[in-house]
Amino acid sequence: VAHYLQNIKQKPELNAFLEIFEEEAFAQADAVDKKLASGHAGKLAGMVIGLKDVLAYEGHALQASSQILNGFKSLYTATAVQRLLAEDAIIIGRQNCDEFAMGASNENSSFGPVLNADDTSRVPGGSSGGSAVAVQADLCLASIGSDTGGSVRQPASFCGVVGLKPTYSRISRYGLIAYASSFDQIGIISKSVEDAALLLEVMAGSDEYDSTVSHRPVPAYSQMLQTDKKYKIGYIRDCFESEGLDTQVKETLLGVKDMLQEAGHQLEAVEFPYLDFMVPTYYILTTAEASSNLGRFDGVKYGYRSENATDLTSLYKKTRAEGFGPEVQRRIMLGTFVLSADYYDAYYTKAQRVRRLIKEKTDELLQNYDFLILPTAPTTAFRLEENTANPLAMYLADIFTVQASLAGVPAISIPAGRDANGLSIGLQLMTRSFEEPQLLAFSNYIL
Ligand code: GLN
Repeated sequence: VAHYLQNIKQKPELNAFLEIFEEEAFAQADAVDKKLASGHAGKLAGMVIGLKDVLAYEGHALQASSQILNGFKSLYTATAVQRLLAEDAIIIGRQNCDEFAMGASNENSSFGPVLNADDTSRVPGGSSGGSAVAVQADLCLASIGSDTGGSVRQPASFCGVVGLKPTYSRISRYGLIAYASSFDQIGIISKSVEDAALLLEVMAGSDEYDSTVSHRPVPAYSQMLQTDKKYKIGYIRDCFESEGLDTQVKETLLGVKDMLQEAGHQLEAVEFPYLDFMVPTYYILTTAEASSNLGRFDGVKYGYRSENATDLTSLYKKTRAEGFGPEVQRRIMLGTFVLSADYYDAYYTKAQRVRRLIKEKTDELLQNYDFLILPTAPTTAFRLEENTANPLAMYLADIFTVQASLAGVPAISIPAGRDANGLSIGLQLMTRSFEEPQLLAFSNYIL
């Protein structure tokens, strides 16, 4: 704890943490020391963990990096966080992120951007940018984030660390602030695959407070990390040949592909015809869900309340206009539009149909291949403000991560090399739902 606190205090400019739980973390560490001495410590004893500011932790501020939740404190602890604590993890603080997890650069936070520790003129990716930088810069051992369309994998790729999005429903979402409920999953950012496996094993599993969570038994992922199997792997040609893909990212990842082939794995190019529909489908469905989920922030129940209101309607309007940042407002408006009576069938219903096609095609490919590989992101970390004026350009940063989210399958980003500027490049792997054991074992083998 002392080691990480010292690192956090030495690098305040990174802006990765919104709050540090200094005294509490030391108290937890003392308690863990005592348990270790008596031989009864939990599986995570001594692991120092940071939480993205979307996970509820009783008695602690929680605001999704938004002003609309200013002053709000959690009344309960998220199931996933509860399970970490029960295994003696130490929670060191609350991490900066894009407001309500909407973004791909961490520039949408009301607390200012997070800086990439490899090059502080660049973004860390998002929305779990603070969580990724915290691991990258050794400010904690691992972070717990959320991934709706890439928010754990893409910042992991930009920061040279491991980012795991489990199968949809593998981890309870109770206590996770909702963005788009049919996509949201709690994910893990860590230095090693082993740490990701251990944390997944602790957090996953059924929970009476989340009706969508899977009741499948939870394997001991951390004990299943060795593999010498030869796998059948599809590399998605359309992604590797897509126009916006940076040439150094492409060459590095094709190099990994060749390396796997030489090691005896069977690699085949596969077609995925829906690449152009991925980002539009994702943004129609997630903004629709977000416009509904964020309806609860009305100035009455949580956090911020406008002081300029004259009646109930103006209380709602002014609170939301003052409390939500521009990107969140844009998405609420987009989502409200696609759900409106005149446009519902043209946009929302159609996007749901396309989601089904994307899911079916992804599942079909995964019946024939153990893994699908593709880049995590089309570029390495871009410069601060490079994409802020153009929301569409920012949305395209998600082109390769939203497939797994639309299909609900597990996906991981692992560091695969660096470009000429020393910026890290991530390789993404997807596999069949609930096959995290082989996803983790194979990632561990590649790393
Ligand atoms: N960049 C994507 C978005 O803005 C992903 C965010 C996320 O996964 N939370 O929606």
